[in-house]
Amino acid sequence: MEIIHVSAECYPVAKAGGLGDVVGALPKYQCKAGHNAKVVMPMYRTKFLYNNDWVIDYKGYTNMGNYFFNYTVIKEKTNKLGFDLYLIDIYGLLDREKIYGYDDDVDRFVAFQIAVTHWINQWQNLPDVVHCHDYHAALIPFMFKNALAFRRLNMVPTILTIHNAQYQGWFGWNRSNLLPEWDAWKWGDLDWNNTINPLASGIKCAWKVTTVSQSYMDELKYNSNGLEKLFEYEKGKCIGILNGIDNEIWNPETDSFITHHYKISTINTGKNKNKLDLCNKFSLNSEVPLVVFIGRLVGEKAADILPAAINAALNYLKGKVSFLIIGTGDFFVEDQLQKMNAAFPEYYRAEIGYNETLSHQMYAGADFLLMPSRVEPCGLNQMYALRYGTIPMVRRTGGLKDTVTDMGDWEGFGICFNNATVEDILYAIVRAVEVYDDKTHFNWMRKHMMKIDHSWENTVQQYTNVYTTLK
Ligand code: ADP
Repeated sequence: MEIIHVSAECYPVAKAGGLGDVVGALPKYQCKAGHNAKVVMPMYRTKFLYNNDWVIDYKGYTNMGNYFFNYTVIKEKTNKLGFDLYLIDIYGLLDREKIYGYDDDVDRFVAFQIAVTHWINQWQNLPDVVHCHDYHAALIPFMFKNALAFRRLNMVPTILTIHNAQYQGWFGWNRSNLLPEWDAWKWGDLDWNNTINPLASGIKCAWKVTTVSQSYMDELKYNSNGLEKLFEYEKGKCIGILNGIDNEIWNPETDSFITHHYKISTINTGKNKNKLDLCNKFSLNSEVPLVVFIGRLVGEKAADILPAAINAALNYLKGKVSFLIIGTGDFFVEDQLQKMNAAFPEYYRAEIGYNETLSHQMYAGADFLLMPSRVEPCGLNQMYALRYGTIPMVRRTGGLKDTVTDMGDWEGFGICFNNATVEDILYAIVRAVEVYDDKTHFNWMRKHMMKIDHSWENTVQQYTNVYTTLK
């Protein structure tokens, strides 16, 4: 099958979170399974762009309302990522360093989607499926279905995968002229609560909708930032498929970001050496259990209560636990976390920023990974932690619920709690410190979790099953 993935992120080209990891891996494993999967994304000015070779695939000219623009599609020359990678450049809109966060993001992503649609419309042979990811690509199903200029595309199956339903990309009806002309009576395909809601539109117009875990799918009917009724109404075409992880990149035996490689049989020495390096680097005490947090410092991840929870733990468990945090996000949380650096030398360190290398070293060197998320569609961190023998401490929500079982349960290998509160986090940390001293149980869990298989092969098959129902 020829599958075109449309996404704002794709690792290692540009990544802000899990979306990038998934779009960097799923097509690669689809190609390995015999499909012809391709990715198309905006041409941000990233290192990857400058460090690789490209050929021009297509040059087009189209419009977004009364703004006429040229776009260029370039293709990576060597199939370096294991799939064909196409970048779309629109001068003045996509030629930026960052992925998101500009005042004109609506224009940027609408123009990107128009260019993708316009480009595919030029193809002689149309693809078997266009697979759109999150709201940045969620207007494509509407354009394929309803845009007058692209009538030919309305037979091409579209699928929308929702990695995060919190972000929906709303804009006002006063900007509807940005979209390619469509049958006016189809306005309901765009509307949700009197605004143009790209994510809602994608849910309505895509042939199938998937989310990145089954529990998240169930939760969206009750909590989806205003789309609850839509998820309930459209549940017949929605399906939850748990993400995989890229075992070639996330492998403690070969990971090029870590110094000391290890496998199940050498986990104790391997992890201890990595922990020692990490603790030395940040002047942390390596004798006590090391709990890490890696992620965006936003409300969804419950980052706002992290400072209070860690403060409580460091005071209550004085000298018995240490913390290392890497993250970026809300300024207030960043500031609070950073201010604590001076208060607990030897037992606490927060690094503000995005650092791929350090994140790998933390998965390898930590004893526990904390994820108190309020919302977690799938969560990749906990699956990386499992692969690196780092015990996940998670709130029971979304994909965390589907991938981690509590150590109190039969063959459980994690620490689970119900609420994103200081009390629940503190109690989880107390349990972590206790099990760290129970070496038989602790070592059994580490080895057991490293055997769990979250590789992409299984997930690829589930997507193939969905694609085949579209025929
Ligand atoms: P989300 O997509 O909601 O941010 P996921 O758990 O799906 O969360 O994916 C997060 C990914 O981003 C993981 O690969 C994680 O290691 C990485 N990550 C998040 N924040 C940082 C950071 N500050 N530095 C390095 N990697 C990070």
